[in-house]
Amino acid sequence: MSFALHGIPVSRGIAIGRAYLIAPAALDVDHYLIEPAQIEGEVERFRAAQQRVHEELNALRSDLAADVPSEVGAFIDVHTMILNDAMLVQETIDLIRTRRYNVEWALTEQLDRLSRHFDTIEDEYLRERKADIEQVVERVLKALAGAPGIVGNVHGACDEMIVVAHDIAPADMMQFKTQTFQGFVTDLGGRTSHTAIVARSLGIPAAVGVQHASALIRQDDLIIVDGDHGIVIVDPAPIVLEEYSYRQSEKALEQRKLQRLKFSPTQTLCGTRIELCANIELPDDARAALESGATGVGLFRTEFLFMNHKHRMPEEEAQFSAYRRAVELMNGLPVTIRTIDVGADKPLDSMGGDGYETTANPALGLRAIRWSLSEPQMFLTQLRAILRASAFGKVKILIPMLAHAQEIDQTLDLIREAKRQLDDAGIAYDPNVQVGAMIEIPAAAIALPLFLKRLDFLSIGTNDLIQYTLAIDRADNAVAYLYDPLHPAVLHLIAFTLREAKRAGVPVSVCGEMAGDPALTRLLLGMGLTEFSMHPSQLLEVKQEVLRSHLKTLEKPVADVLASFEPEEVQAALKRVALV
Ligand code: PEP
Ligand code: MG
Repeated sequence: MSFALHGIPVSRGIAIGRAYLIAPAALDVDHYLIEPAQIEGEVERFRAAQQRVHEELNALRSDLAADVPSEVGAFIDVHTMILNDAMLVQETIDLIRTRRYNVEWALTEQLDRLSRHFDTIEDEYLRERKADIEQVVERVLKALAGAPGIVGNVHGACDEMIVVAHDIAPADMMQFKTQTFQGFVTDLGGRTSHTAIVARSLGIPAAVGVQHASALIRQDDLIIVDGDHGIVIVDPAPIVLEEYSYRQSEKALEQRKLQRLKFSPTQTLCGTRIELCANIELPDDARAALESGATGVGLFRTEFLFMNHKHRMPEEEAQFSAYRRAVELMNGLPVTIRTIDVGADKPLDSMGGDGYETTANPALGLRAIRWSLSEPQMFLTQLRAILRASAFGKVKILIPMLAHAQEIDQTLDLIREAKRQLDDAGIAYDPNVQVGAMIEIPAAAIALPLFLKRLDFLSIGTNDLIQYTLAIDRADNAVAYLYDPLHPAVLHLIAFTLREAKRAGVPVSVCGEMAGDPALTRLLLGMGLTEFSMHPSQLLEVKQEVLRSHLKTLEKPVADVLASFEPEEVQAALKRVALV
């Protein structure tokens, strides 16, 4: 039966493929007693699931990118060991044989027993292994249910697949960077949730906030994802399929035409040079940045290097080699490395122990620079690693979520301290490395002189600026309809920041998702923006808009947008911006 679901469009284009459902973790299992004659069959079922998880872990291990820190591999090895441990395997089989529990029941019963035992262990490191055992058991349960694990069956099988999930954590989303999928659909999420941002960075169509999609869509259903409108069509009629196939080929043609712009300089019709830089999450994304014609990396979100590190941060050496790799790949072009921005929808597993999970409003809690300043040794390690990379190319340091003068001063002090430590060790770095601030909290925009006086450059993070100005959780689909980049308050904060930075002679860019939306390019140009940073997949469309724009003719209609408060007036003025 054909039907359509509506959600939030987050990554443009049309995908047609088979649904690939990712089941949520399922510890809630059936409990029943089996007949004596079924015992060996049940044991065999357990063995087969165990074998399947083995293969998943092996595949995951061999697929790890070269620059993934070594701890990730070690972490997979721990899971493999647990999977073979007699405490899990033999005891579960004993429960099947002696109590005649079905395998799922036996497995969760044994997990409960092990958990109780682990809770009594004093050693914190050993106590934390409990989470690993839970994850391994979840994988085995998924294998028993015939459901694909997040990483398991993904391996090599999915060229025509569209991932359908209730929700995907940003850390899990990163695993898809090495896989080829046609598209993504999730029940939850907002336009600028980090899951959506990573989906966009993959350059494939995606819709989030498609409520109940994972319950209504079945494994292997034929589906269409219209990433321009956030529509998902399940089991489409032949005529609908034909129409979307046609649209898909039209889009492919447009994309091929856009490729012609790749090597042309980015300037407006009146000759103003505009910098288009790339946002990256992993060092190897720098390749796509160069491919797209970006003139630098405007935002390297380093927290993605820190994710999937269950129990500790990557060492300085591992961080340094990741930063250095991005810098070397960019071949002399600037790389703006943002210090770790964890918290809110990007928690680290290790934050749980600090009472983080009990924080009522994590987006307003210990996030980004606040967390870094609360962990000075960790922060110094990252700063040293970034500074060391600056000896290999042009590096800038970007600090997320600053709001207070003392936070800026403390940060600058720690950067000086990191430099001193490197001096003492005789390690090279660029002594003139520039330090900039994200402007993403309304207080920062309003108190801009604090920033202009202390920092070398600014970068406006519109994703958070919108979230905090409008008090709309960017990851919550229930309020996504209120997340509005064109709200007059947001536009005024951006325009003010651009104007004041220009007046003070401090370079300023926009690296939030607004910078990559071609529908907003002219508006931002008209507000005075000359440096944009976005995902490489968005760059050529934005460039096309720049090449068609004349700054002088934008002045009046953009001033009209800023002078408008009623939504219809804003829209009408925006139409004039598009037409001049
Ligand atoms: C932003 O907030 O606009 C930004 C670029 O940072 P992030 O999306 O990583 O929070
Ligand atoms: Mg941000």
